[in-house]
Amino acid sequence: MLVVKISLFIQVIVMAGLIFSQPDKFEPLRQRMVKTQIMDRGITNSAVLNAIRKVPRHLFIPKEYEEEAYNDYPLPIGFGQTISQPYIVAYMTEAVKPSAKKKALEIGTGSGYQAAVLAEIVEKVYTIEIVPELAEASSERLKKLGYKNVECKFGDGYKGWPEHAPFDIIIVTAACEKIPVPLIDQLAENGRLVIPVGAPSAVQELELVTKKNGKTETKRLTFVRFVPFKRL
Ligand code: SAH
Repeated sequence: MLVVKISLFIQVIVMAGLIFSQPDKFEPLRQRMVKTQIMDRGITNSAVLNAIRKVPRHLFIPKEYEEEAYNDYPLPIGFGQTISQPYIVAYMTEAVKPSAKKKALEIGTGSGYQAAVLAEIVEKVYTIEIVPELAEASSERLKKLGYKNVECKFGDGYKGWPEHAPFDIIIVTAACEKIPVPLIDQLAENGRLVIPVGAPSAVQELELVTKKNGKTETKRLTFVRFVPFKRL
């Protein structure tokens, strides 16, 4: 009798373990996305690839688009804003050369997805969002998903976040006509800033700004299309 009870107990434990350790149903789609949309287009940084393999992108978008979460395009997240195409997130993250000891600033939290990808790699992420509803929702989402190294705030990212500057990494995910000067000032020595520059209604160029001996250098990377950078 005791043996039966013990074996039943073990069976229950094993089943519970199976249920709770099951990867989400999107896992295969996510792995395929990394292979076909990201690696096959030339992204090689293993920290970036692993971060994107891990972050559950479907939890960052409205339920109605869940099935499209791992497709090769941006998706609406409400308030006229979008979550970027997965490849662009990978491209921008690789461009800023993230690593464990670095401190990052993101302008345009949106869904919080880019912040989560960065947070998988770097020590600390500060992120600013100008739409109050999105700022609140993404902050909640990141907390719920256990990202303790991300600090979110509502506000105009034009001014950066001087209290936490300088930043090794700055990622701007909204299109500016000109690079905000406070962001250049808040970039650390040897830091890297990526930002889409150009007219909001057109295609923009993704620019990479690096700082060496206090001097900045700007390089054009590729053409992109982002939502406009707004001001409060
Ligand atoms: N990085 C986001 C994509 C966001 S789309 C993600 O991973 O989901 C760009 C976001 O920038 C929008 O949410 C928009 O509201 C925000 N934004 C635009 N101008 C801003 C500004 N001046 N400061 C902070 N956020 C801004």
